[in-house]
Amino acid sequence: MPEAAGGRKEGALGGLRLTPQRKAILAAVREGGRHPEAGEIYERVRRQLPHISLGTVYRNLAQLSEAGLVVELNIGRASRWDGQPAPHDHLICRRCGHIEDIDIGREGCDLDAIARRVSGFIIEGHRLQFEGLCPACQRRELDQSAHATDV
Ligand code: ZN
Ligand code: MN
Repeated sequence: MPEAAGGRKEGALGGLRLTPQRKAILAAVREGGRHPEAGEIYERVRRQLPHISLGTVYRNLAQLSEAGLVVELNIGRASRWDGQPAPHDHLICRRCGHIEDIDIGREGCDLDAIARRVSGFIIEGHRLQFEGLCPACQRRELDQSAHATDV
C-alpha cells in the first residue's frame, strides 16, 4: 500500500488511525471477491477478532468510507462495500447480485464535460453501473427455458 501523502502520521490513512479492528475490516473488504455486504465482512473479521460486534463493523465501515478508504455502493437491498476507492465503473447482475469492476476506457470518454455543459454543475466525478445478467445467470436462464419447452 502506498504511503499517504502530506506528512500524515504513520499508521494513519485519510486522517484515520488504523486500529487493529480497522485494519482487519479493511482487509476483509479487499479480500477475495470485492464488493461484499457488511454481513460478509463481519464473518471474515470474526475469524481474526471473534469478539467484534456487527455494530462495530458498521461504525468502522462508515469511518473508513468517510476517510476515503472504502466506498459504499448503494445497490439493491443491502449496501455493498468496495475496497477500491479510485473511480471506476461496475457491472451488476440483476439476478444473483454479482458485482464486478469494468474498465471501458474512461480516459477517452468526456462524460464529465458533457454533464457540465448540459447542467452547469461543476462535475467532480461519475460512476457508471451497467445492469444485466452475468454469464452464469444467462446459462441458468437458458437451462430453465430449455426445461420449460421439454414439458
Ligand atoms: Zn448473475
Ligand atoms: Mn468496484
